[in-house]
Amino acid sequence: QVEINLKLFNSQNTIDEFLNKVVEYKNDYKFKIYAYGISQNPDTKDYILVLQNGYCERCGEKYKKIWNKWCNPCQIKNLKENFRNWTSGNEKIDNFIQEIQLKVNHSYGVIFEWISYNQFSDIKKIGNTIYSALWNDGQLKYDQNKKEWTRVQVEINLKLFNSQNTIDEFLNKVVEYKNDDNVKIYGMSQYPDTNDYILVLKTECNCEECGEKYTEISYKWCNPCQIKNLKENFRNWTSGNEQIDNFIQEIQLKVNHSYDIIFEWISYDQFSDIKKIGNIIYSALWNDGRLEYDQNKKEWTRVQVEINLKLFNSQNTIDEFLNKKIGNTIYSALWKDGLLKYNLNKKERERIRFKEVILKLCNSQYMIGEFLNKIKVYENDKIIEIYGISQDSDTKDYIMVLQKEKYDERYCEKCIEKYTEIEYKWCKPCQITYLKDNFKNWTSKNEIIDNFIQEMQLKINNPKDLVFEWISYDQFNYIKEINKNVYSALWKDGPLKYNLGEKKWERVQVKEATLKLCNSQNMINAFLNKVVEYKGDENFEIYGISQNPDTKDYVLVSQGGYCEKCDEKYTEIQNRWLEMKKLIILFKKCN
Ligand SMILES: [Zn+2]
Ligand SMILES: [Zn+2]
Ligand SMILES: [Zn+2]
Ligand SMILES: [Zn+2]
Repeated sequence: QVEINLKLFNSQNTIDEFLNKVVEYKNDYKFKIYAYGISQNPDTKDYILVLQNGYCERCGEKYKKIWNKWCNPCQIKNLKENFRNWTSGNEKIDNFIQEIQLKVNHSYGVIFEWISYNQFSDIKKIGNTIYSALWNDGQLKYDQNKKEWTRVQVEINLKLFNSQNTIDEFLNKVVEYKNDDNVKIYGMSQYPDTNDYILVLKTECNCEECGEKYTEISYKWCNPCQIKNLKENFRNWTSGNEQIDNFIQEIQLKVNHSYDIIFEWISYDQFSDIKKIGNIIYSALWNDGRLEYDQNKKEWTRVQVEINLKLFNSQNTIDEFLNKKIGNTIYSALWKDGLLKYNLNKKERERIRFKEVILKLCNSQYMIGEFLNKIKVYENDKIIEIYGISQDSDTKDYIMVLQKEKYDERYCEKCIEKYTEIEYKWCKPCQITYLKDNFKNWTSKNEIIDNFIQEMQLKINNPKDLVFEWISYDQFNYIKEINKNVYSALWKDGPLKYNLGEKKWERVQVKEATLKLCNSQNMINAFLNKVVEYKGDENFEIYGISQNPDTKDYVLVSQGGYCEKCDEKYTEIQNRWLEMKKLIILFKKCN
């Protein structure tokens, strides 16, 4: 059974005209009124089109949207007719409410009303100028089936405005609330005893502490109150240095969102269980963990994170520190108390225990300005979250406490400095540190040669450079003489090259290497000068030095490219790597 409309067509019209009209209705997708069939009045013989119920009963016009049976012109007419049934007692306020009501244009949402104060019951103060209450008759809701307004009882909040303020000031405030999509306003009222005006709101829109609208309603975040709380907490901590204190305070007062980090002074005894996990890297526990505002739970919690510690050794002079001659040292640690988090249920800050953090040390007690500038760079670049500043109680080194998990793509995860080659994630200082650390793992048993190779290695300047190495002679197989002092051989491991795609060092299975003999051990300097000369040709790849264990002859290991006539390197060579696998010589020439 369905409600329907009957559309009459005078029998004076031809059947063709009628049927054309039927087709027109059936094709009328805009209004989406279904045509169910055709009938006929037996008395008048008038044909009848049987249509879905889609016409306003009051004005006979088609509904704009048939699914909610909402006729906007008739609703506005109803509201206008109802103006005489209510008044706030103040013409300005009446006009204000009427104006808002006449802007209605859909069936959902709220009809902004004047609500008599005796409509409210169970009124309780929950904060400064904020009360909770029950609205007895409740909110107007449009019933699509009954095609009429009904009222639904709702819990609401009442926000008081002191009657000392002018009506204009009050109405400006109402407009401000209405413009915030996250606020739901049901209407206005007035407290009869004091004549204070009242805004009738959805619950949990206002901060209970200050009574003002939350800065972020969904997260119950009141920024002015958060800043006030942080300010009040200034007396509960100090770094012992006024400049540092001011710096941290300044950053704290910049808090602007529920997802912001609260930058803190973190006592050094917060970190425990510091373990060396690499030459310059330490892991440790931040016992409480860092503060994070949980948007689902709407509270501050402390979240455990891995951290590293970065040291600037205080033993070094400030000049060395500035010139970055020392390797950067990083520690990871756990923060015992952990990060401060705002617990929304308890409405107070809590600490999350055992948060792993990175500690970046700096012997900057004499140059706090430099240290603080570095923090500002991190803050502005947003490469990494900074939780706060600490100080080593023994060395007096200042320490940046940094997030461990996430680094920006542009920053080396070992030293937290910008990559030398961002595209290839190649950090020159860290590569040099790696090579230096590796010095102890190889030796030619000749100090001059060792020093020479070390010096060559430390000249590495970009990811395309080969690592010049000491190569054990047993790496070579199938050694064949191809000229007087020139041999070809197969190199088991192959040269060390930075794989630009994978962004890591790997050995190239080049297989074929050329060995050039230096006959005399007594001519080491001449040999090394030759190596430097050959290295100067950027088209000629030199892999390292080896030594024949039987003859003790030193050997220069390189690509092919020696002239068959004079035994010297071709003066002009052009190569190409075939997918990092094979080096081919495209062009060679000897003067
Ligand atoms: Zn109507
Ligand atoms: Zn507040
Ligand atoms: Zn690095
Ligand atoms: Zn030649």
